[in-house]
Amino acid sequence: PKAQSEDVAITVAMGDGIGPEITRATLKVLSAAKARILTESIDIGEQVYLAGHSSGIRPDAWQSLRRTKVFLKGPITTPSGSGYKSLNVTIRKTLGLYANVRPCISYSPYVHSLHPAMDLVIIRENEEDLYAGIEHRQTDEVYQCLKLITRPGCEKIIRYAFEYARHHGRKKVTCMVKDNIMKMTDGLFYTVFQEIGAEYPDIIQDRFIIDIGSARLATRPELFDVIVTSNLYGDIISDIAAELSGSIGLAGSANIGEQVAMFEAIHGSAPDIAGQNIANPSGLLLAAVMMLVHIGQADVAQKIHNAWLKTIEDGIHTKDLKSEHTKVLVTTDQFSDAVIAR
Ligand code: ATP
Ligand code: MG
Repeated sequence: PKAQSEDVAITVAMGDGIGPEITRATLKVLSAAKARILTESIDIGEQVYLAGHSSGIRPDAWQSLRRTKVFLKGPITTPSGSGYKSLNVTIRKTLGLYANVRPCISYSPYVHSLHPAMDLVIIRENEEDLYAGIEHRQTDEVYQCLKLITRPGCEKIIRYAFEYARHHGRKKVTCMVKDNIMKMTDGLFYTVFQEIGAEYPDIIQDRFIIDIGSARLATRPELFDVIVTSNLYGDIISDIAAELSGSIGLAGSANIGEQVAMFEAIHGSAPDIAGQNIANPSGLLLAAVMMLVHIGQADVAQKIHNAWLKTIEDGIHTKDLKSEHTKVLVTTDQFSDAVIAR
């Protein structure tokens, strides 16, 4: 086994818009908490697109990712206009990041939230379904998009969800499908859920049809603990849940593959507030906390998470969180300093 003190190499991209501000704030906290990491920087996003790389990433950046296998990524801007491919989709496909993991938690009463009791994790399949990119034009008036669901794909994501529940002390896994209509594709997803679920008798198992499931998620999120679902359903319910939890600036996510894992905030590059030192760095910071757990530094992760929670509880908030619970309104830098102080 590796010595505990050995630094783990990670690849970092600052990103566009508010990316550099929140990434700097996050790295400052990681360093103050003595995370045992060694960072390698890569450039991705706007500048790289405009320099003529249509995917927004250069070949040497791939080498760094394949070497370190851990990626902390700031948000990026895809230039408008055709000819620019979404870097997120490219990275996900190239590195086989099959699981998108998004914790959705209310920090009530410290942050205003519609559902104070919400504490759930959405695990979304990230490579298949209607996102497989198989679209055809049949005639001028008829277009077709193929929904691809494979048994190995279902097995990977569903096993990941059960393992995640076990390792994170979560009690229930809910499968969301529409297998009453899509009997073959969604039917397979639910069949595999039942098969693999049989190996996890310690975990409560549940199934919702996606339409009523989404409705319940919006009105009674406390019914859910871990949710596992296919790509498009997961995309939609992730945004519903993020919206319920308070601010888009508060949530991080992980994209997990067989070899490589990528950690990022759920929000975009927020060009409207870039360069003003007012963005909330919490989403990327909480993504970095997930990253530390992933690389076996749960001790550092917990230290940072506790300090962050205390900061929020003390009413030290960036502008996006401003409410009657706010005691001190702070800049991005002041927020990270407050976390470090705690
Ligand atoms: P993208 O296409 O890159 O996903 P988007 O158009 O969906 O971007 P975001 O960049 O996520 O939008 O921003 C949506 C809104 O939320 C903007 O008004 C932005 O200022 C705000 N916002 C996003 N992230 C933060 C943050 N970390 N702190 C404060 N406000 C934020
Ligand atoms: Mg967006």
